[in-house]
Amino acid sequence: MGRHILVIGSGAAGFLGAIACATANPRDRVTILEAGTTALNKVRISGGGRCSVTHHCFNPSPLCNTIPRGGQALRGAFSRFQPQDTIAWFEARGLQ
Ligand SMILES: Cc1cc2nc3c(=O)[nH]c(=O)nc-3n(C[C@H](O)[C@H](O)[C@H](O)COP(=O)(O)OP(=O)(O)OC[C@H]3O[C@@H](n4cnc5c(N)ncnc54)[C@H](O)[C@@H]3O)c2cc1C
Repeated sequence: MGRHILVIGSGAAGFLGAIACATANPRDRVTILEAGTTALNKVRISGGGRCSVTHHCFNPSPLCNTIPRGGQALRGAFSRFQPQDTIAWFEARGLQ
């Protein structure tokens, strides 16, 4: 019997985090709690409904500079998981 992990919020971040938890420890039970009535609402409207999932800039430093507000705060996160990792993540699941 594994742990029971609660993820708050069913946005892109919550789903990716929940999938990462479930993949890392398949014995754990992962539950996403959502305050709204539906999941992935912003993903559904992003990119005008076509959802452009990432950028084609694979260097964290210039990538941070393209973000109008708060880009520097993402430097650490982008050094661990950046657009190249996003592309690999989707490709591993059959989406080019
Ligand atoms: C119009 C528009 C177009 C966009 N276009 C693009 C694009 O083309 N490409 C791109 O990469 N990004 C785009 N984005 C941005 C992208 O959609 C968001 O950055 C991303 O979806 C945010 O995901 P998130 O999980 O961080 O937050 P959210 O999607 O905001 O998810 C947070 C979730 O947590 C829930 N929640 C909050 N508080 C609680 C609580 N206390 N208890 C339970 N649930 C709670 C909320 O209801 C929500 O469902 C766009 C955004 C918008 C608004």
